[in-house]
Parts: sequence; structure tokens; C-alpha cells
Amino acid sequence: MLENSTYSVKWPKVIGNTKRYRASFGLKSFMEGEHLIVFKGKAFSHEDYIPRPVVVKSMRYFCGNKDDFEMYKLCNEQTRILAIHFNKLSATFSSKKMQSTFKLRFVVAAVTQIDTRSTLALGKKFKKDEYVAFEEKLEGKFTTFIDKRGETLDRNKCCLILEAFSHFSFVVSGENFVICGLKGVYREDKSDFILTNPTIHSREGKFGQKDKRDPGIRDVTKNHTCNKFCQMFMKKPSTFDNGTSEI
Ligand SMILES: [Zn+2]
Repeated sequence: MLENSTYSVKWPKVIGNTKRYRASFGLKSFMEGEHLIVFKGKAFSHEDYIPRPVVVKSMRYFCGNKDDFEMYKLCNEQTRILAIHFNKLSATFSSKKMQSTFKLRFVVAAVTQIDTRSTLALGKKFKKDEYVAFEEKLEGKFTTFIDKRGETLDRNKCCLILEAFSHFSFVVSGENFVICGLKGVYREDKSDFILTNPTIHSREGKFGQKDKRDPGIRDVTKNHTCNKFCQMFMKKPSTFDNGTSEI
């Protein structure tokens, strides 16, 4: 056998979708991050004729367990829900001709376990029942727009909306957490971002190993510079920008 494959799991790629998918993926990773290795694969369902392209993510240095990937999913979900709220607000601004028609969307991850393993000894050796996550494969140039310390790495003007989203997360959480580590693809023709695997720094450290608690929040607030979108989304003063309000 030349591929690894997972058990099937419900993957609500779209709201209301209750189909179960299993993913098959090759032996060679195409991206290696600080914590994760990423493989290209396909997700199959009995109810779909055509398999869906996905990426399968596993822990890079150890055998991932359920908690690791439930945390991964939680960070994506927390951020996805805020992004929906953010987009709705953005739409009300654009209807008032106040610019900002950018949309943000975070992918939905499915958490499952390795079922069958390749018999070829190449790349990562998966353990039987090792936990992994799969999610839609993003088409386009994968870019880290804002890093885990809140620094904007891609100086494209469209990143201003992501900086505002980071600030927005801090305000709507009552300054309990801040979202950063915003990466994925930007589709210029649709003016939207499809994003994955954000970092959340929280006061209580409840978002996994990437959550650097107060020092993480301090870094992000220090590295942030408010822009015109921040002013649109946040109508009340905030303690971003190192304790001084620019709003
Ligand atoms: Zn701001």
C-alpha cells in the first residue's frame, strides 16, 4: 500500500452537511511548520462521486492525540465564528459605501485517526490510531500575512483588514484573547481571504501550546498599528497600541 488513510468522520464543510469522509494521502509531506506536517490528499464520501482535495495535518515531532487536534479545531472554530460576525459588520459598512468589502473565511477541520498505514518506509511513520486533522486544500499562494507575534509580514494593503480583525478579536473578547498567526490565501478577484490554523493568545492560556498568554497578547498589541478599518469596526476606545488609544 502506497498511501495512508484515515477513519471516516463527519466533516461539515458546509453548514448542514452531515456526510462522512475519510482521507487518503501520500507519503511525502509538502509543508512542514513549527508544530505540524502537512500532506496533500483526497477526501472520499459514499455520497460524493468526486473526491475532494484536502490537506492532512499531523504532529511533526510526535504522535498526535485527540486533545492536540481538538485544540487545533477549537482555535479554527473560535476564529471562524468571529470572522462571520466580522464579515456581517463589514457588509453593513460597505452598504453605507464605507469601503471594506473584504471577506474572511476560516476552513473547517475534521479530526480523525489513522486507519491504514503505508507499507513503504518513507517519510513520517504513523502510529495506528494516531490523530490527524484534514481540511480543504487552499488554492493559490499560501502566505503568512500576520505572524504569531502580531507582525504583518505581507505589506500588501489588503492586510489592513486582517490587522483590524486581530484588533476586533481583542475588543469583542473583552480583552481576554487576541487572534493572530493569520495565514492562508488571498483571492484578489473575489477580495476574500481563506485562512487556517490561527494562533490565539489568551489571559488563561486556554488555546493550546501556541497560546503565550499575557506576553503573547502584549507582543501583538505592541506590534499592531491601528488603521482605517480598526476605526470602522471599533467604535469605543481600546487598549491596543501599547495602552494608548488611537481610536
Ligand atoms: Zn487597531
